[in-house]
Amino acid sequence: MPDPACGYTMGKFSTVMARPPAYIPQPPDANPTKEAFMATAATLKPGVEVRAKKLLINNEWVDSVSGKTFPTINPTTGEEICQVAEADAADVDKAVRAARAAFETGAWRKMSGSQRGRMMYKLADLLEKHADELARLEALDNGKPYFIASVADLPLTIACYRYYAGWADKTQGKTIPVNGPYFSYTKHEPVGVCGQIIPWNFPLLMQSWKLGPALAAGCTVVLKPAEQTPLTALRVGELILEAGFPPGVVNILPGYGPTAGGAITRHMDVDKVAFTGSTEVGHLIMKAAAESNLKRVTLELGGKSPNIIFADADMDKAIEGSHQALFFNQGQACCAGSRLFVEEKCYDEVVEKSVARAKKRTVGDPFEKSTEQGPQVDNDQFKKIMGYIESGKQEKAKLMTGGNRVGDKGYFIEPTVFSDVQDNMKIAQEEIFGPVMTILKFKDLNEVIERGNKSIYGLAAGVWTKDITKAHAIANSLRAGTVWVNCFDVFDAGAPFGGFKQSGIGRELGEYGLANYTEVKTVTIQL
Ligand code: ADP
Repeated sequence: MPDPACGYTMGKFSTVMARPPAYIPQPPDANPTKEAFMATAATLKPGVEVRAKKLLINNEWVDSVSGKTFPTINPTTGEEICQVAEADAADVDKAVRAARAAFETGAWRKMSGSQRGRMMYKLADLLEKHADELARLEALDNGKPYFIASVADLPLTIACYRYYAGWADKTQGKTIPVNGPYFSYTKHEPVGVCGQIIPWNFPLLMQSWKLGPALAAGCTVVLKPAEQTPLTALRVGELILEAGFPPGVVNILPGYGPTAGGAITRHMDVDKVAFTGSTEVGHLIMKAAAESNLKRVTLELGGKSPNIIFADADMDKAIEGSHQALFFNQGQACCAGSRLFVEEKCYDEVVEKSVARAKKRTVGDPFEKSTEQGPQVDNDQFKKIMGYIESGKQEKAKLMTGGNRVGDKGYFIEPTVFSDVQDNMKIAQEEIFGPVMTILKFKDLNEVIERGNKSIYGLAAGVWTKDITKAHAIANSLRAGTVWVNCFDVFDAGAPFGGFKQSGIGRELGEYGLANYTEVKTVTIQL
């Protein structure tokens, strides 16, 4: 690989997440306050037309082979937004054939890296041009606040495409000093046709994490958005056509997991599958890859991330940061700081202030100015979270606030805090994926390291302390793919993200993310 500085300077976007008290990623040049943003936003109602509703195969919008469609639901109301074409195995097969043809003819991979990069920059520019529309569509289909979609999801998504556009002409090999009269070098070639299956919690962002490195490397793609949130992925499909990508390079197939998703993972002509979603489905994906053609697999799965507050921390910053670490995106984040470990000495203060902050959190329509928290994505998630709240009560964790549904329409849940949580409780072990904070007490450093690591997951961790020695001890000892010190959820397209243990295999973002989309070829020539 070349000096990564080249790639970074082209594509770098320094999101500044830790801008107290919001902890929301924001472009440094814009950095709007919520009030300033809302004042300039044209209208706060969805005000967005749903355009693309079909499958994108070989640069054409087509109905599914079965003719079936499925509804996508507005989680704010529980009502249908529209019907979308439903892909199944026959459509996956058509899309894989298109992607294979595009790969073999070399329309994409043989294009010079800089030309590929230029097309990706063009896509990023189009996303930027339509950023407001995309933010509205994301808020409508997913339920996240429009403000958050505008200042977090969109800038990070655009930055990701730009970052990987910068890498498109920088994936180069090495010369190897082998023994004997030989000249040996390596090439990084695209892995081939990639199946990409993405979740519903950050639909646009996850699409960029998948498409960015795959396209930069010269791969062709069959991407399945989550059935809950297909709309923004399809709108990006229209922008991909507008940017001029050759036919078959990006195919987008909305559909259900076991059917369309399963067909991608079992397909004999898919070279690699990249998946973000639950650990449970991650197991199925590896199995399908093993039982079909040993396609390469990268997985970004669940988490139960420890977030640790020591008594010497800047308390206001730690409490607000930990609040956002859990409640951001309605608690629907794989890296949510969902086990809040608090040192005994400051436990009562943290519990009291965290409860007060949760009580202040505003829940409501994603298009309302005051909304911090929208609805959960669908009824299944809503019921699952309510089930965990019930289990917390039954296992005798102390319910300090929340625990109920908000309103009688849509999938809103009160910001909920449990204290006195014990390690063996279900709410301390399983991923809740909702606005439910669990607070656990600890005495000392070694104890919290041991308990922090007692999980099948290892995605992320956070620590709040002014003591650099403690911060390093935590960073060195926790088995997690990312450790945030005195901050949380700081993302950058250049910084790798992924899990230890059952939180996944491989890394996304950065140079490491790119490596998953290339095969290394060694060429040796007799001199
Ligand atoms: P969640 O439980 O949070 O909805 P999932 O892991 O079920 O997360 O879903 C993430 C993505 O994986 C979605 O696009 C979904 O359609 C897809 N998916 C679900 N089940 C399967 C499966 N058996 N094979 C392939 N993809 C699947």
